Amino acid sequence: MQLSTKHLLGIKDLTPTDISLILSTATQFKEVLQRSVKKVPSLRDVTIVNLFYENSTRTRISFELAEKRLGADTINFSASASSITKGETLLDTVNNILSMKVDMVVLRHSASGAPHFLAKHIPAAIINAGDGINEHPTQALLDALSIQEKLGSLEGKKILLIGDIMHSRVALSNIYLLNKMGAEVMVSGPPTLIPKYIKEALHVQVEYNIKKALQWCDVANILRIQLERQNQVLFSSLREYNLAYGISKKLLDGLNKEIVIMHPGPINRGVEIDSDVADSHQSIILQQVENGVAVRMAALYLLAGNKPIT
Ligand code: ASP
Repeated sequence: MQLSTKHLLGIKDLTPTDISLILSTATQFKEVLQRSVKKVPSLRDVTIVNLFYENSTRTRISFELAEKRLGADTINFSASASSITKGETLLDTVNNILSMKVDMVVLRHSASGAPHFLAKHIPAAIINAGDGINEHPTQALLDALSIQEKLGSLEGKKILLIGDIMHSRVALSNIYLLNKMGAEVMVSGPPTLIPKYIKEALHVQVEYNIKKALQWCDVANILRIQLERQNQVLFSSLREYNLAYGISKKLLDGLNKEIVIMHPGPINRGVEIDSDVADSHQSIILQQVENGVAVRMAALYLLAGNKPIT
């Protein structure tokens, strides 16, 4: 089976069949990752460049590891150590790299739409590793795989996204994916961090009362405040945010059920999530990271035109 798209620019462009295909392929790769030899030669003749114009820890390491596990040749590019500081445009940089015979580009960029722009101008397959406040498709896919593993399926499950919904690409990709796969989505957080017409535009429920929102959900995905993307004061202080919307053990103990706790990382302990929640048995934060490698292997493999996984 094949994906309906040539690039992975966002969840918005994927069909439910594409999403199921990526998730089932990722499950096969998880099995490969349990073996003592964690490598398959599926991308042996494929060269991939990881272009990171914005900082990253998990996503970058995860893509690199996924590429290596598939036997691809990889090149890493970080903006701060490159000629963009000398004034080169994104398109010129990429065209120069492609003239060295690169097949796929993994791009993280602070400008929303940067991967979509590149896709119109270059022949290589592009994977969006996070573009500004737009999308982070592989994060939503690894979140979906993690929920599926924990709860058996996505269909009918109640997923709550908490915090800086306005500036979070993780939130947007999750909302698209969960809606397409039949889950119910609610957002909660300070009114200043929740877009005004999100209910109508993206078909999610909005609940400003965090206790009610937590009581409603099966899974709470807690987001980081994207201070680097806010150019105005949207809440009084991080301490106050923690008091009003930070997820604490006390808050969770007050519910009449146990919910699953997720976070895309990096976590800010004592701001959006307290340490005893992040490290609790309810938290699947590290499973999310583990699933990231398998999901990225699946996306790379399917976009490269797949051969049997051996
Ligand atoms: N790592 C995620 C991202 O790149 C979430 C975050 O940074 O808060 O969007």
